[in-house]
Amino acid sequence: MKVLFLLPALIATALSASAMQGGEVFDRLDLEGRGLEKVKSAVAAGDTARAAVELLGYYRSRKGIALTGFDLDRVKLSDNERRMADEALDHKFFVHYGYQPSFFYGNDIDWTYWPVKDNELRWQLHRHKWFIALAKAYKTTGDGKYARAWFEQYADWMDKNPLDAALFRRKTEGAGDGTSEAAAAQEEARRAFIENMNFAWRPLETSHRLQEQLPIFAMMINSPDFTPEFLVRFLDKYQMHAEHIMRNFSVQGNHLLFEAQRLAFAGIYFPEFRGAQEWLERGIEILNEQIGKQVYADGMQFELDFGYHMAAIEIFLKALRMASANGVRDAFPPSYIATVERMIELVWNVTFPDGTQPLFGDHKATDREEMLKKFREWEQTFPKNRQIAWFASGGRRGERPPYLSHAFRTSGFYILRNGWEANSTVMVVKAGPPAFWHNQPDNGTFELWRMGRNFFPDSGCYVYSGDDKVQAEREWFRQTRVHNTLTLDGANIATDSKLICWADDGKSEVLVTSNPSCPGLTHTRTVFFVEGEFFVIVDRAEGDATGNVALHYGLCPCQPKVDLANAAIETIFADGNNIRMQLFASQPCTMEAVEGWFSPSYRSKMKRPAFSFGCSKQGAAPVEFVTVIAPGGMTGKISASLAEDRVKVSVGRRKYELAMP
Ligand code: CA
Repeated sequence: MKVLFLLPALIATALSASAMQGGEVFDRLDLEGRGLEKVKSAVAAGDTARAAVELLGYYRSRKGIALTGFDLDRVKLSDNERRMADEALDHKFFVHYGYQPSFFYGNDIDWTYWPVKDNELRWQLHRHKWFIALAKAYKTTGDGKYARAWFEQYADWMDKNPLDAALFRRKTEGAGDGTSEAAAAQEEARRAFIENMNFAWRPLETSHRLQEQLPIFAMMINSPDFTPEFLVRFLDKYQMHAEHIMRNFSVQGNHLLFEAQRLAFAGIYFPEFRGAQEWLERGIEILNEQIGKQVYADGMQFELDFGYHMAAIEIFLKALRMASANGVRDAFPPSYIATVERMIELVWNVTFPDGTQPLFGDHKATDREEMLKKFREWEQTFPKNRQIAWFASGGRRGERPPYLSHAFRTSGFYILRNGWEANSTVMVVKAGPPAFWHNQPDNGTFELWRMGRNFFPDSGCYVYSGDDKVQAEREWFRQTRVHNTLTLDGANIATDSKLICWADDGKSEVLVTSNPSCPGLTHTRTVFFVEGEFFVIVDRAEGDATGNVALHYGLCPCQPKVDLANAAIETIFADGNNIRMQLFASQPCTMEAVEGWFSPSYRSKMKRPAFSFGCSKQGAAPVEFVTVIAPGGMTGKISASLAEDRVKVSVGRRKYELAMP
């Protein structure tokens, strides 16, 4: 979710943080705890150097606190992490997927270097993703160069990225000679300082570091290069991170969940801090409160993005596991656990049998391995759930869901399916309420997966936010008209769909949703899943609005056979898994090929065939379209016509009359 810069608030917090920095870290530790006796007596004697040595000894031998999700005895270094670690030695930092090879940040690291004005590239530099790779490389190879790289780079980061407006003032006070040039230079320096602070100390990035520094600390603490002085500095900064989050929680959404869970981890892992209990309690309190607010009754997280939905599941479960392993599971009521289980049920419904999912909103491609891993993790928490076991085992244990098609009525996801296996046909339709930044104006759109092929993948998102160039790239992929739905004059639609009908007559299923797409134009989409075999979509554009009404369809990357004059398209994959589609309308329409892109992951995109089919709507009379999408095996001429209460469809010699609900 997009977080606006809140300059005055951050400066105010920075000032209080700087006041905090004055004291020694020992003042902020509760030295009454077991094992800290020697630290306490050294502090009492005024010997903070000895206290730091004793404190390092304490942390090197500390036992009894579990860091769930991390096993110090089984650290593995993936090939990708090894590359990240090795590149980091040369100050080539892995900041974000989509920006490889990694950029060089200078021998004297420039933490404000911003080679592409994508905000994520600037923010996520401060997540220090390569630090965990350095720690793992050190732990698995024992080579001190990886550890030393972390000490040097993190110390450098601490030096150059203070959360401290007062320090900035001290540095620049009296620097000018009173000329307007000096004043302008000082103003520019002030602006740059605040800009950097906003990136480096955005609460989400701060929480990311708060979390990652726990396993890093565990892997590094026994390094001979881990000095008592560094420990004091590390802890001082760690506490500042936690307190900064306590004062600057994001307003809502996944950011707030991440921050709360990570703060709870900090509270559990470093109970020596006087504030630790408060961090833990506040973190858990927020999670308990937000799970009720952010998760709809049907189990979907309210940002309506499957990626962030799964991230929310991970957050809730991480907190639960960490609390359970450290004796505070009772902090989460049974309703919390039941909600997470509902969230997982939504996931298996919207996941195609090959582990991929619709890329609605800002979601990025998933695959079978990734999803199997997730279900196996979820099975640990829900061992009695037969469906989770089925998905976790690739169908070898447990039971498949006792239903096929399924509706998530609050969030507006509707799944039409004829099976759960690799030879099934599955359509996921999106027609929900308004949501947030990661959601797109795409109501009515769908993805159609059949026997291992997604014939209508969503365009994806490509990129998040940044300067005008980056923003324009994002906007292209967000547009309504690059989704499988209807527009007026190509404009983006409003999204607030209502479910009109969800019915099954024993042979065919029908879904009707209605969306107030534009002022004066309502889009009602009726989807028939006929005999579990093919789809008939009836679109009705209704209202006073006039202009060009058009339907849009984007196919998977392929070279289809296209007959624009008859609005007929057919894929011709050699494996025989194909679709045939044809469009019809209540008045003369034109079909044209349009620009089409498919982006499965950040900053990657490929061309794909896309089409629009439309006409001019001249008065209050509605425009109606019928789209028939049949499997390639259904041969013969396709025709369709719409009467008052039914749609007549024929494919070859097969004829259907579908009653409009
Ligand atoms: Ca999209």
